[in-house]
Amino acid sequence: MPLWIDSHNHLQDARLGDPQPVVAAMRDAGIEQCVVNATHEGDWADVEQLANDHPGFITPVFGIHPWRADTATTGWENRLVDLLEKYPQSSVGECGLDGWISSPSFDVQQPVFQTQLRIARELDRPITIHALKAWEPLFEAFEKQPPPRRFLMHSFGGSWEIAQRLLPLGAFFSFSGYFLHSRKSAVLETFRKIPRDRILLETDAPDMLPPAEFITHPLAENRNHPANLASIATALAKSLDITPEVLANMTRENHACWISDFNPNSSASD
Ligand SMILES: [Zn+2]
Repeated sequence: MPLWIDSHNHLQDARLGDPQPVVAAMRDAGIEQCVVNATHEGDWADVEQLANDHPGFITPVFGIHPWRADTATTGWENRLVDLLEKYPQSSVGECGLDGWISSPSFDVQQPVFQTQLRIARELDRPITIHALKAWEPLFEAFEKQPPPRRFLMHSFGGSWEIAQRLLPLGAFFSFSGYFLHSRKSAVLETFRKIPRDRILLETDAPDMLPPAEFITHPLAENRNHPANLASIATALAKSLDITPEVLANMTRENHACWISDFNPNSSASD
């Protein structure tokens, strides 16, 4: 059985219920690790707890999601740095920019995002970026505050042109099952062009539900179970004309390169 890594989910989300059976189902489905992303200060402690309960299985990511940018309270930057220093395996996210929502506005989102870019760069940690209908604002943010040496564009739904602009900056791109919907086939086309050593897999559970035929672990109210990853990955492998085993090995190596085995001597930090 191929072994998979879910490079982006939200196991702390109350919509998934008790994390214990969720983690057990993931292990049964061949998922050997996952990255759990906080979304606002209010769930940092939950993500921390999960990482402590499942060492080696859960990698924590702490940050503020653009939808929650207006909830940041005084001193949040210092508390974020403290958490990142407490957990050397942790990184920054989920953060980014979203032009699909009308509130909070980019004016509120931008400073919160740029602060997280700065912290990631200063601490030399990877960062997980959410960008939706926000490509030019994203590049504007990068001009003011360059990203750290490696970053993940999670649930990447951009074009090949956008990917080409992000690649030289250090981007990795994770594929989520939502893009298996036939109306989203352009995203699969983009993933066929992205260099293989920059591709990762994710569920974004409990969000980004794949089409029905790829759901192996159904949940109520259209929630996405992270154990659906194996079936999502198998579908991506088919689209890339490789075996699931090759995709599993490739994405596990890429994941290690992105988040774990960073060699400070191997890339220019400008
Ligand atoms: Zn997410």
